[in-house]
Order: sequence, then C-alpha cells, then structure tokens
Amino acid sequence: MISYSSLRLSKSQIARGWCVVRNLSASQVHLDKHECKVLVVGGGAGGCAMAAKLSSKLGSNKVIVLEPADKHYYQPMFTLIGGGMKRLEQSYKLMADVLPKKAKWLREKAVEFDPDSNTVKTSGGNTIKYDMLLIATGLQLNYNKIPGLVDALSVPNGKVGSIYSPLYVDRVYDCLRNINDGNAIFTFPSSPVKCPGAPQKIVYISEHYFRKMGKRNNINVTYNTALPVLFGVKHYADALWPIVKQRNITVNTRRNLIEVKAAQDIAIFENLDKPGERFEEKYSMLHVCPPMSAPDELAKCTKLVNEAGFVDVDKSTMQHLKYKNVFAIGDCSASPNSKTAASAAAQSPVVYRNMIAALKGKSLKSSYDGYASCPLVTGYNTCILAEFDYSLTPLETFPVAQNKERYSMFFMKKDLMPILYWKMMLPGYWNGPALMRNMLSIFKSKQK
Ligand SMILES: Cc1cc2nc3c(=O)[nH]c(=O)nc-3n(C[C@H](O)[C@H](O)[C@H](O)COP(=O)(O)OP(=O)(O)OC[C@H]3O[C@@H](n4cnc5c(N)ncnc54)[C@H](O)[C@@H]3O)c2cc1C
Repeated sequence: MISYSSLRLSKSQIARGWCVVRNLSASQVHLDKHECKVLVVGGGAGGCAMAAKLSSKLGSNKVIVLEPADKHYYQPMFTLIGGGMKRLEQSYKLMADVLPKKAKWLREKAVEFDPDSNTVKTSGGNTIKYDMLLIATGLQLNYNKIPGLVDALSVPNGKVGSIYSPLYVDRVYDCLRNINDGNAIFTFPSSPVKCPGAPQKIVYISEHYFRKMGKRNNINVTYNTALPVLFGVKHYADALWPIVKQRNITVNTRRNLIEVKAAQDIAIFENLDKPGERFEEKYSMLHVCPPMSAPDELAKCTKLVNEAGFVDVDKSTMQHLKYKNVFAIGDCSASPNSKTAASAAAQSPVVYRNMIAALKGKSLKSSYDGYASCPLVTGYNTCILAEFDYSLTPLETFPVAQNKERYSMFFMKKDLMPILYWKMMLPGYWNGPALMRNMLSIFKSKQK
C-alpha cells in the first residue's frame, strides 16, 4: 500500500473524503471539481507512458491521471512467473513511483464518462473537466463469467491457476510442481484477450518443465483454444505447428471453457462449431485464460464505444471517430491490432503527436500501422519473436529469421524487456522498435 505520508494527506483527511492527489499539498486539493488540459484515464502501460510524454511537453499540473491501483505491474512478466522463472515481487513497482512527477495523480476510478460536457465522474464523487481526454483503461478480466472458476481459483493448493492476474499467477507454478500424472489442460477464451500468445506460451513452458522434472511421460498436455487457428499470423503459426507436434501437445481448436467443477476436477467445454455440443475433461491441472472485455464503466458509455465496448477510434490516428478531443491507447481501443504493451509503445508517438496537433487545432499527421509484437516463449531458453502489423504481415526488427526458436530472443524477453519497460517506455522515451528496425534493415538487405 502507498503510505499516506508520501501522498501528503493525513488519514483523517482521507477519511473525510479528500481525494488522493499527488503533487499538490493538501491545502491545494479541491473536492468535487478538477480541471485539466489533458485527462488520462488509466495509468498502465499506455496511460503512464503518455502521461509522461504529455506532462513533459505541457508542464506541471496540466495533466491529470485517474488511476485507482497502488501498484503498476509489468504484466508480460506474469508468463515467466507462471513458469517459476521470475517472482511476483519483481513484476511491480508502486504506482506513485512510476507515474510522472509533473502530472497530478487521482487515485480513483472513472465511473462515468460524459464526452458531451467534457467531464468524467470518479469513484470518489469528483468531476474532472478536461480539454482533451485519453482513455487507457486496458481490459477487464472476467473470471466470474465462467461458473465455478472463481471458486476453483480460491481452493488452497488447488489445481487451477492463471497467469493473467497477480492474484492467481503464483498458483500456476504450484500446479506445475504438484502435478505428477493425468491431464494438464490449458485454455484460450472466446473473447478478445491481451497478449493472445500468452495462453500458449505457458503451455510450452509447462511442457518443458514436465520434461525437465522427468514426469512428462505421465502427463497429457492439451491446449483447448476457442480460436480456429493456433496463432493468428500464418508465418508464425507455420513455425509453431511443428513444435506442438514434435512435443506431443494436443491442440483442439474451437473449444471454449464454459464451467469448472473444482470438487470433481472437471472442466466443461463447448464446441463452438457445433452449438449445444459440450464435453467434460478431467484435469490434474487447469490453466485458464479468462474472457476479457473493456471495463464496465467504459463499456456502458455507448457514445464512446463500439458494439463490443471498445473505444471507437480511427485505427490510424487513434482519435475518436465522433469526439475529436478524445483519443485512446492500448488494449481498450477498438483499433484491430493484437493487444500488447508493444502495440501501446508503437501507438504512443502517434497518439502524442496527434493529441498535441489537436490541442493546437492542427490536422493530424501521424499514423499507426497496427504494429504488435509477441515474444512466443517456447520453453526455459527459447523464444520466437513474432512482430507484425494490421495486415498480419511480419514486421520484424532483427536481421535474422525470427520465426525460429532462439536463445537470443528468450534472453531479450526475460532480461532486457523489463528494463526497456521501466526505464524507457513508462518515462515516455520508448516509441517502439521502428527506428531500430529501419537502422537494422541495411543488414537485412545485405543478407538477401
Ligand atoms: C500474462 C500476460 C502476458 C503478456 N505478455 C506480453 C508480452 O509478452 N508482450 C507485450 O507486449 N504485452 C504482453 N502483455 C499485454 C500487456 O501487458 C498489455 O497489452 C498492456 O499492459 C496494455 O496496456 P494498457 O495501458 O492498455 O492497459 P494496462 O497496462 O492493463 O493498464 C490499464 C490501467 O487502467 C486502469 N483502469 C482500469 N479501469 C479504470 C477506470 N475505470 N478508471 C481509471 N483507471 C482504470 C487499471 O487499473 C490499469 O492500471 C501480457 C499481458 C499479460 C496479462
């Protein structure tokens, strides 16, 4: 928890309803009403990076960040935590330490968006008026949408885990250690998810773990995915299929988890190609990737979101289609890219330039190409680095065949990317690998 003293508000002030605002002395804090040039809703990967860029350009106290969480997690590390390669404590920093000092932080949730009056209401009863709004709320994890799942995830020393939440990620490595035989089942839901590669990364890591521990022959490894494909980009799917075959991993497509009966260790799936067809599978360990959606508070504002609940922006400029002073970044945006922190990084210079242009009343010139990256970890020392754009065409940075399993990519994912995230992306300096890709392209031409 953040100490009250570091926020310069006393416990009694907070109890009396003072909202938590950093960078203001208590006497300067006004209840109920705040005004700012830019309001950033969500201080995760995209929101924090953008708040840093914008507050550095616009100066102190022009940017408000609305973010209820006290911890900022580097979520890509969760996959490695599930495999016992990192610890949960290594994956987060205090929100107070990562949000930019020049921005004001309100530790509250946005509960109501009113784009017609340029205001957002907060969980603490405050109303914030903005000139420009950036929505960066990420995705909501809907574990509760699968009957029996939350109970199964609460069983002490249970057989069900999930790398998607800090609440459940440690259970995954416990499951790997505890299982000795039977079925290890892994799922991918029937909804958009962040990092669509992660549910299968944990399959490869687990399978490798079982081999290392000498128990692989007693365990059946099954990946049940609601998708019709193993991976959405053919270039990389073609590289992954031989890996699953060679490692004897069963992949079932169009299978969607709909219920968990923890008392009997049974998972119930539906066949998405044959409505009504259901089947039960007994598990010794179950890894669940939960269904996800935009947060309810955002999805209910139909003026801002599309039918699926995502912020209805132009996929190139990231500006809202109707409200020209509203932009989105990251997972909550309706732009049809793969939802990754790498995408948010590549969006950030575009959103920044376009927001500054919009603030000055100029036309928007910057355009996002849908870049996404997914380091497909295939075990304890190998990784395929998938990089692609809106058209699902590879958009690779390095002058090597990136669809091959490599130690170098694994090292980058495990040891370099966390540094890049904390030291470069969150402070607003990292704009994705486009510059590096251009520089390294001379080696690619030489290779040809
Ligand atoms: C297991 C796992 C593995 C992953 N692996 C990778 C990887 O290898 N590479 C990669 O690039 N990406 C990976 N990702 C995805 C990456 O973490 C996300 O795509 C990225 O964090 C999205 O950034 P964001 O800012 O949109 O959302 P987030 O970083 O999730 O931040 C959203 C923030 O908004 C806040 N918020 C929510 N609702 C409200 C509200 N109503 N009001 C105010 N604030 C609100 C939340 O508290 C949160 O802090 C992985 C994710 C997971 C879970």
